[in-house]
Amino acid sequence: MLQPLLLILTALLATGSAFSAEPSQELSHHIDGKFRNPHLPADFQPSFIAFLKARLFDDLTWPDDPENYREYWQPANLERIHNPDFNKAQATLIGHSTVLLQHQGMNILTDPIFSQRSSFSQSLGPKRYTPPALNIDQLPHINIIVISHNHFDHLDVDSVKALTSPSFIKNINGTQPLWLVPLGLKKWFAQFGITNIKEMDWWQSLEVGNVTVQAQPSQHWSRRSLFDTNESLWASWAFTWPGSEGNDKFTAWFGGDTAYNPYQFKEIGEVLGQVDLAMIPIGAYEPRWFMKTQHVNPLDAVEIFKDINAKSAFGIHWNTFVLTAEPVDEPPKALERALQKNSINAELFQAMDIGKTWLQQ
Ligand code: ZN
Ligand code: ZN
Repeated sequence: MLQPLLLILTALLATGSAFSAEPSQELSHHIDGKFRNPHLPADFQPSFIAFLKARLFDDLTWPDDPENYREYWQPANLERIHNPDFNKAQATLIGHSTVLLQHQGMNILTDPIFSQRSSFSQSLGPKRYTPPALNIDQLPHINIIVISHNHFDHLDVDSVKALTSPSFIKNINGTQPLWLVPLGLKKWFAQFGITNIKEMDWWQSLEVGNVTVQAQPSQHWSRRSLFDTNESLWASWAFTWPGSEGNDKFTAWFGGDTAYNPYQFKEIGEVLGQVDLAMIPIGAYEPRWFMKTQHVNPLDAVEIFKDINAKSAFGIHWNTFVLTAEPVDEPPKALERALQKNSINAELFQAMDIGKTWLQQ
């Protein structure tokens, strides 16, 4: 009984079908108080019915959770996280798209999800098969938390509650982190009493201490309940630390959740010049006929790597929840093939174990 219900709910939350207007010539992502993808036609999404038919009656199957989750997993190195090299950037993959990015005393957390399930309920929905590489109470002080969009695997109620709890705030020297969210999402945070929050449109920048944070485009969609499709925006985020004596300029880019198109990432590359570290999704991409307008596969991820002029990258959005049809260990293998096809050194763009810390050379 639960299985079909679960399937319908999961599928509903995985489809973005409601675009209400024709794309205009001016390629705006604003439309009628909502948001849209400027590089997709209005009817871009294959129908939910077609998806459900494939899932229920065709041979579209979901992989089982792996038995040995430690193949691409290690506990985070807490010693390094709590004693980073001030002049070198580092980034730790905590799980799914949750990354702790640290540079020059500034600690930034992306799309925090520490919960057991990516769902509207902790009783049903996709359950994580790899634990977070560290717990919330093991985090260092957090200056900024960025959110890419409101899907359950990127915006998690229990994690938001824990990151605003008095005990967490006390633990990190008594200052609330600054939450940076895409347009339309600030009101959702009001229920948790979060006041240190700023909503940003694509290309808006904000200086926070020594880092400039910019909200940038991505190709995705949003929905939190059945009737709020695309009422809030989706975004990728760039972080730039200026060069100073003894320090080179450093730019990191967090892709959030996105599909590929040959426009937005080239534009990001032009604006940023060069990206020293890119965090690019590499998982949740099959079946392609349904996912390709909302999620990249590793081949697309490599196109993004090239378009934004990334020097180094690691994969996010994989090895945590079974959300889609590809085998759970396929993304790193497909990424390696995609890099080889593009004659890019595999060292430069790694799938990277959950828990591992990327270190600036
Ligand atoms: Zn999403
Ligand atoms: Zn996602």
